[in-house]
Amino acid sequence: MKRQSITILGSTGSIGCSTLDVVARHPDRFEVFALSGHSRVAELAEQCRQHRPRVAVVAGPSEAQQLRTLVGADTATEVLYGPQALEQIASAAEVDTVMAAIVGAAGLPSSLAAARTGKRLLLANKEALVMAGELFLEAVRTGGATLLPIDSEHNAIFQSLPVGFDYGLRECGVRRIVLTASGGPFRDTPIKQLADVSPDQACAHPNWVMGRKISVDSATMMNKGLEVIEAHWLFGVEAERIAVVIHPESVIHSMVDYIDGSVIAQLGLPDMRTPIAHALGFPDRLVSGTGMLDLCRTGKLSFQDPDLQRFPCLRLAYDALQAGGSAATVLNAANEIAVAAFLDGRLRFDRIASLVEAVMTRMPVVHLDDLPTVAGVDGEARSRAREQLEARAGH
Ligand code: NAD
Ligand code: MG
Repeated sequence: MKRQSITILGSTGSIGCSTLDVVARHPDRFEVFALSGHSRVAELAEQCRQHRPRVAVVAGPSEAQQLRTLVGADTATEVLYGPQALEQIASAAEVDTVMAAIVGAAGLPSSLAAARTGKRLLLANKEALVMAGELFLEAVRTGGATLLPIDSEHNAIFQSLPVGFDYGLRECGVRRIVLTASGGPFRDTPIKQLADVSPDQACAHPNWVMGRKISVDSATMMNKGLEVIEAHWLFGVEAERIAVVIHPESVIHSMVDYIDGSVIAQLGLPDMRTPIAHALGFPDRLVSGTGMLDLCRTGKLSFQDPDLQRFPCLRLAYDALQAGGSAATVLNAANEIAVAAFLDGRLRFDRIASLVEAVMTRMPVVHLDDLPTVAGVDGEARSRAREQLEARAGH
């Protein structure tokens, strides 16, 4: 069997490291073509020593210089930098598979480049689908790419749908899709105390170890909101047929509810190496390094409806999906600014939702005809979010 040549965009992040962990278990199946680490140069240098990619990409010239010094004559890795280089390693002719694991809107151009060039595209970067879903899917179709979801919920749904399910298919006996959510670290915190929570508290997720942006999104449940929009695009399901259930144990990763009353779910330990290995091997199953789920040890599984009072971001995401067009692009951009401000100590945790809502209400919903339109809306939403931050400073 020919080995799959793989590019990992965002290899130094949480998903990137888990991907390399799985890849390294199967040297007969995979070879690493390229890695990217933006500003985490020391980690990337270590990965280059271990995995010997042909190319490594960082943010800019000074990071490139640092990386060259760190890897030295040790490896034959070519060091490139900048967004263009990310697109290059995502679309290179030698590459079969691309893991898109850059966080936020910064991951859109390279994910799209992989889609357009017909790669097997393992998509962790949910923001790309949220901000430009229709254009993204069009690129997948015209490029002939195979899109495999890495987000644990969407991977679970993919596994629970009939074999051969085609993206965009509306009817195959599915009544609804049920996304599970842990509820994050503040599921039971008295709402009043949410004004004072710190970035470290917000990032201390009870079940998953993840990057800081997605950890904050999990704490506000914006993450689940983004995932509702992601599910809409991936599976062609409308908002009314996507339900969210809080399931604090994170054992059931999501479910598909069929018209005959059957509910098919995927279960497992909360370890991203499972969905990563599923997508890397699909349709084969690969050893992932994840432990075995023992339900007798897990004990009770519990479920509850999400409280939209506590988690207004979830409501905003449903609103954006209903509004269509550019609304989700605005939601995503404003959220990225709000989360960065919270992580920097410039915005209270309980103001993230109101900042996003303020930007959403101030921007008209337009149709996203092309990528420049997406970039324009994204940029404008970011400036409006920054204006909101300034207006609120000191309040
Ligand atoms: P992370 O913060 O741990 O890693 C992000 C990666 O992106 C790093 O390699 C970083 O160097 C790179 N990066 C950051 N800014 C960049 C920029 N401007 N340009 C280029 N590269 C940049 O994040 P993560 O937790 O691994 O999440 C990555 C993506 O996967 C996110 O979209 C997240 O929503 C999604 N995801 C993560 C998990 C998880 O368990 N961590 C689960 C589901 C989905
Ligand atoms: Mg998820």
